[in-house]
Amino acid sequence: MRALTSLLVLLLAGHLFAQRKTENVLLVTLDGLRWQDVFTGADNRMMNKPDGGVKEIRQLRKDFYRGDAEARRALLMPFLWEVVAKQGQIFGDPSRRARAVLTNPHKFSYPGYSELLTGVVDERIKSNNKLPNPNVTVLEFLHGLPGYGGQVAAFSGWDVHEFILNEQRSGIFCEVAWDPATVARTPARLAALNRSARALPHYWGEWFCFDVVTYARAREYVLSETPRVLYLALGETDEWAHARRYDMYLQMARRNDEMVRDLWETMQGMEQYRGKTSLVLTVDHGRGRNERDWTDHGAEVEGAEEVWMAVMGPDTPPLGVREGVQATQAMVAATVAALLGEDLASVTPAAAGALPGVLR
Ligand SMILES: [Zn+2]
Repeated sequence: MRALTSLLVLLLAGHLFAQRKTENVLLVTLDGLRWQDVFTGADNRMMNKPDGGVKEIRQLRKDFYRGDAEARRALLMPFLWEVVAKQGQIFGDPSRRARAVLTNPHKFSYPGYSELLTGVVDERIKSNNKLPNPNVTVLEFLHGLPGYGGQVAAFSGWDVHEFILNEQRSGIFCEVAWDPATVARTPARLAALNRSARALPHYWGEWFCFDVVTYARAREYVLSETPRVLYLALGETDEWAHARRYDMYLQMARRNDEMVRDLWETMQGMEQYRGKTSLVLTVDHGRGRNERDWTDHGAEVEGAEEVWMAVMGPDTPPLGVREGVQATQAMVAATVAALLGEDLASVTPAAAGALPGVLR
């Protein structure tokens, strides 16, 4: 009896003092990357000239097409499928009765990013205009907590992210689009970073840059400043899709997967992050379902409300592709906070709760 009581006390204590292992979070968004391509790989219907704008069809098929959907998706995003989906969880596969959807009606970027970063839908946010977000993002919430000052950083290819994150009010370190990089381990590295960025064409004008620019400086920032919370927003997938270039869209899905792998592995090689970091990966909206409207998204585009998200880290059971569980984009914000043992509802009571089952 006595032994049993001690055991019970031990179990209770273990439960009460169960600490999260996560001390850092890497949040990555890939703008408008469809769940269809993520879960089933390259779509045959767009691997041609009229529907996909494909320049070299034979090469594209060689690079991205296999008869089997599981082989195809692993070819497109090997880190997501061979590592994240095995060691973590992935939401949004309708074939597993596991839809993930937006709760905002707009199905374009600012409302999507705001939903996933704040956990709420604000009806004032209905355009991509540079409106300083009236709502508190999970990054701003964390930045205001003890232990997070100067430990939250965001890098985005799109200049509107400064406003979505309300850089001015939140005080988060934020660099976007073609802003020169300002932080590196050494002056020589900083000069090299800016020299490479300056060598690239401003293909989309001043408001959006190539993902490699965003990725390179986020990586350098990690090595130099070791932030506890890093948000990396990549967006070329959306640009190439709007341009009806399925070949470039697929290339960037694969390159983005490589960037996430590299950042993750780089972090796992550092004492600050090893075994103490969680990854959250998602998108801001979906796109159309067929060979005509896969390029598009927005309120009128059927299916563009369907999204996906993946979570991996020391506190997340390896359940793989989740079945029979519904998720909303608004759940991402509370998930990021909860992984760090923080409660987003303490600042935003209306925020959606964390994704079900991602925490032990
Ligand atoms: Zn978008």
